[in-house]
Amino acid sequence: MKVHLALAAVGLTAILLTTTQLAGETSPAAAPTTPSTVTPVEAPSSQAPPPPPPPRVYASSSDLPDGPEFPVSGAGTFHEVPGNGPVVGTGPLRTYAVEIENGITVDEQAFSAFVDATLGDPRGWTARGARSVRRVSGAASVRVRLTSQQTARDVCGYEIPVDVSCRDGNLVFLSAARWIRGAVAFLPDLNTYRTYMVNHEVGHAFGQGHQPCGVAGGPAPVMMQQTFSVSNDEIVRITNGVSQGAFIPQDGKVCAPNGWPYP
Ligand SMILES: [Zn+2]
Repeated sequence: MKVHLALAAVGLTAILLTTTQLAGETSPAAAPTTPSTVTPVEAPSSQAPPPPPPPRVYASSSDLPDGPEFPVSGAGTFHEVPGNGPVVGTGPLRTYAVEIENGITVDEQAFSAFVDATLGDPRGWTARGARSVRRVSGAASVRVRLTSQQTARDVCGYEIPVDVSCRDGNLVFLSAARWIRGAVAFLPDLNTYRTYMVNHEVGHAFGQGHQPCGVAGGPAPVMMQQTFSVSNDEIVRITNGVSQGAFIPQDGKVCAPNGWPYP
């Protein structure tokens, strides 16, 4: 939102400058030189892009942000993105494989590279020697699946009408709607939201449950349901009694969006 406001401010400044300069051109003193001075004044204004539309105000932090098209539906079956990586970290080894739903078109290498970078990052689940991870093909402890919007709704549920990702057993389903659009609390930082998606759902596969915002203004726990909100009160409102496996206090605490287990 700050970016949009900044652009709007620049646009407004440009308009004010143009108006001032044009006003000067209409003064009697400027009249004799009109042909040579009007041209450079008008050229920038005619080439300036139109001001951006005002940023959308979302009714809920859980709304799917505006943005590019994304895979709405797929076959419901998955294929692996082949790949093997090094063991990262120390501690008990957990392996993972990367999969894409059949029938959807995405940059599969970019997706798998992002998952690798996230799970191998020292701010991730390998921190403090808790575990090591390794990308594999074939049998794996966890399978990270990029999933169409509809399949994610089918698997993850849509009782709360919000597009979310989820974990079912050793399967992690990342909703392509969110992969492409992100979440309101993170706007416009899609990369951090994707980091959150991967770490949050794989965190479930590693045995982690949900957490509320603990320190107002601090980084949100990666196991906070930040797709809903980074506000405890708003999460309570959005989930509206549907259990999320953790008690969320209505204590007014609001965290800063965060994608890392150990930021
Ligand atoms: Zn969760």
